[in-house]
Amino acid sequence: FKSALGKTPRRPALKKTSHTQKDPVGVYCRIRPLGATDEECCIEMISSTTIQLHAPDGIKANRNGEYKETQYSFKKVFGIQTSQIELFEDVAKPLVDDLIHCKNGLLFTYGVTGSGKTFTMTGSPGEGGLLPRSLDMLFNSIGPLQAKRFVFRTDDKNGMEIQGQVDALLERQKRESNQQSTVPKTPSSKQKPDPEFADMISPEEACKCEGVDEDSCYSVFVSYIEIYNNYIYDLLEEAPIDPIRHKPPQSKILREDQNHNMYVSGCTEVEVKSTEEAFQVFWRGQKKRRIADTQLNRESSRSHSVFIVKLAQAPLDADGDHILQDKNQVTVSQLCLVDLAGSERTSRTKAEGSRLREAGNINQSLMTLRTCIEVLRENQMCGTNRMVPYRDSKVTHLFKNYFDGEGKVRMVVCVNPKADDYEETMLVMRFAELTQEVEVARPVDRPICSLAAGRRHRNQDGSVLNQLLDSLPALPACELVDPTDEQILPRLIEVLERRHRIRQMITEQYTRTANTLKSMLQEFDGHLMAKENFIHEQWGKLGEKDKIMFNQKNEMDRLEKKSKMLEYKIDILQKTTNIYEGDKRSLQQELESREQRLQRELSERKRMEARMQGMVSDTKHQWEKECVNPDRTTTGTPIRLHHRRSHSAGGERWVDHKPLSNLDLDTVMQPIIPNAIKVSAASEKALSKCHKYVLTHQELASDGEIQTKLIKGDVFRTRGGGQAVQFTDIETLRQECPTASSRKRSSDDGPGQHDGNQMDWNDRENRVSCPSLIHLGWSKTAIRVL
Ligand code: ADP
Ligand code: MG
Repeated sequence: FKSALGKTPRRPALKKTSHTQKDPVGVYCRIRPLGATDEECCIEMISSTTIQLHAPDGIKANRNGEYKETQYSFKKVFGIQTSQIELFEDVAKPLVDDLIHCKNGLLFTYGVTGSGKTFTMTGSPGEGGLLPRSLDMLFNSIGPLQAKRFVFRTDDKNGMEIQGQVDALLERQKRESNQQSTVPKTPSSKQKPDPEFADMISPEEACKCEGVDEDSCYSVFVSYIEIYNNYIYDLLEEAPIDPIRHKPPQSKILREDQNHNMYVSGCTEVEVKSTEEAFQVFWRGQKKRRIADTQLNRESSRSHSVFIVKLAQAPLDADGDHILQDKNQVTVSQLCLVDLAGSERTSRTKAEGSRLREAGNINQSLMTLRTCIEVLRENQMCGTNRMVPYRDSKVTHLFKNYFDGEGKVRMVVCVNPKADDYEETMLVMRFAELTQEVEVARPVDRPICSLAAGRRHRNQDGSVLNQLLDSLPALPACELVDPTDEQILPRLIEVLERRHRIRQMITEQYTRTANTLKSMLQEFDGHLMAKENFIHEQWGKLGEKDKIMFNQKNEMDRLEKKSKMLEYKIDILQKTTNIYEGDKRSLQQELESREQRLQRELSERKRMEARMQGMVSDTKHQWEKECVNPDRTTTGTPIRLHHRRSHSAGGERWVDHKPLSNLDLDTVMQPIIPNAIKVSAASEKALSKCHKYVLTHQELASDGEIQTKLIKGDVFRTRGGGQAVQFTDIETLRQECPTASSRKRSSDDGPGQHDGNQMDWNDRENRVSCPSLIHLGWSKTAIRVL
């Protein structure tokens, strides 16, 4: 059913892949109203998808209740009130949509004679059926997008060709002149609507497909065949039927094209450009069918009629002017509208003789259809691979591609609810149930053409010339019979004159177009100049701006350098500040530590003073006990503090007590007390003669040197007649190594200074001892020696 020539974008029908999506055959049920004379109804519509069959009374009685009430479900059930448009919207509209979008479709009506198949498919005046509505929708959708006649051309192998504009034009003219010469044409006959198709679709019911590719050109071809007695007849063939010999016209054969699609070989395909034209062609076929029925004494209900709408489409070229001259880009899709023969069994029709054989064949076709459906269903459900007997009848053979290949398949099951049809209706329902279980591959979407969209509307102007070209009248037959031909010559002259006029018009149009083009070019030139000037101007401005920019950049560079310099300076200052702060901190620390030392020394001094004070008061206390001189004790005369040499220089007598263990020190200066009684051990006798006492005591100082202490005191007479000494002063003589501590030396302020008097070691080899009397602050304290 698909275009054979060239590589159509769609895959061959037989190469099925397991990934393809499948949809079940869409089965709808339409219940026609009961006839005027029918009384009993055996069908009840239960819901929008289910009907119930009620066995009529007579049958119930006969079969003794064998028939039970049965329900059948469909994709949708249309009740007796359903209008033609409602049915169309649900059943056929999606198929027309598919057709326009390059997908195939098959729609057939099934049912017993009188159930409304023909009414559903064809309809009646004022109540157009699915077929006229489909055609109307198709032309409403693609009307202005159609290609000129003969641009698309069917070949005899089910393929589609494209021919150039000129070839198409020549062919158009050839056909027109042929028509003129054969049938004296009445100008209005072509436009006159067929009375049977008049008002089939009211204008307000007109519908249209959305999303039609406007960048494609379309062309519709229709063919109409009839399958009767398993023979295929072309209902659009011009050859007249021979009524004398009652011989049926030549039947057609089915062939398979190179894409494995079945087609009726040599079948007439008429290119139609409007709904009316398509109706007319259909009506022509209908008439022929009726003539055959009457002249050949046929039973119309036993024939299957197949109306095929083929839609060819090809993309417009990049200019949007003409069809792309590429056969590979042509896509052909088709919608098959089938009005099947009555499904009733032979016994019901009172046929005899050749009629019986016909009836058998009719039955045979539908039987084959049923078998095919059964096998398909079994293969799909059980995964078997039984051969489907499509070839057993013409109808199934023709449908083969729909079930084997891809496309949408829909069936309208028509039922007459009258009780008489009950048994046949039940068979119809069973078949419908079976059919719903068969799945058909969903058609794939067409790949989008690589050219830019919107091509058609970008170029609308070339059409005037094309129209003029199209209006060139064809030349009439011009075989002259004699020189004074009164008929042909004037006609020829007239046509030639018309052609001449049109030629002149074309020339004018051409000149006009050339002039328009010229002025457009001049205008463009002007625009171009203006633009160039503008650009020049802008360049100048740009140069100025460049200069400013350059200066600004220099200034910026300078500022940047300056800023860097300043930053550098700030950095240095920061570092200097840090150093100073560090110094400040360390100085502060030193200050603090010195203050602390001072504090420590002060507190030490205070502590010592306090201790000394304690000792003095203790001693005083003792003395008060022991002293013979009560005055002294009682008056509490404060202890005189003796300073060094203050008494030794006087004329008092001293007891100079030097224990034998003392070492002689070779110091330069030696303590000398004149007029003293020298003793080496304590002697009462010596004490009784003197007033003063001095003990020379040696000990090891902390630095390892010998330290000499002169402990001085006053001698008192005790009440018991003994002697007592009250110590009043201690002089300490210290030797020191000059290298032992540099710090001490550096802080030495020289002799005579309190606390700082020390012996100096100037030279370690020639040790010059320089004993100096050191007056220590605490030495003023009197210490009593027991
Ligand atoms: P079939 O083609 O199945 O033999 P037809 O379509 O010829 O049946 O219908 C038989 C008669 O019933 C016709 O006169 C037709 O107008 C009428 N008819 C069928 N269906 C309907 C319907 N849905 N509404 C009104 N009349 C109908
Ligand atoms: Mg019919």
